[in-house]
Amino acid sequence: MPKTRIVIIEEEGGPRLALEPWTTIEKKFNLITASDVSLAIKDLELLQEQWSEIEQILAMLPQSWRASDPGKYQSDYSFIGPRLLNRVAVKELLPDGAIFTGTEKEWREYQREHWHNYDKVPPGIPVLNFMNVYQELCPICGTLQPVIRHHVQTEDSYDGDEWMLRYLVICCGAVQVITRKEAGARIPG
Ligand SMILES: [Zn+2]
Repeated sequence: MPKTRIVIIEEEGGPRLALEPWTTIEKKFNLITASDVSLAIKDLELLQEQWSEIEQILAMLPQSWRASDPGKYQSDYSFIGPRLLNRVAVKELLPDGAIFTGTEKEWREYQREHWHNYDKVPPGIPVLNFMNVYQELCPICGTLQPVIRHHVQTEDSYDGDEWMLRYLVICCGAVQVITRKEAGARIPG
């Protein structure tokens, strides 16, 4: 599998994340028998699953700071800072005016008014340049890649909640998981 890299692309609608090169996945099929064909279909289905997950992650990463309760109702994907392993916002991906400049008291008022979807980056979320987000080595090819934190509540019941936290990189055409843990509550860090 060839190496891939997350890049920021400037487009008319604003900056977005993409994987480069996007079209590196090639598979040579030698289709002779019916079972060759069904194996090839299975492989392609796996690839499709993998790539729609990657597309989803790339689309959600720039929006992570908007969630007031990250991971509670849907997967939260975010970049993280170098030492503090919590989510950060990437400066190049922010819309104009997204950085909150008011006082703490003004933020609390803002929070009450915008509980479900912030349009200002919460003061507790550091804003970093893309080149400064935390990176780890891809376990397959060993190149440095930006680390993505995936946090989600997987079970919500009276018997107990379940939360899952994964750190991953996207490289070599796939989601490469670096660590994964589960807990009965939101996992700090
Ligand atoms: Zn790799």
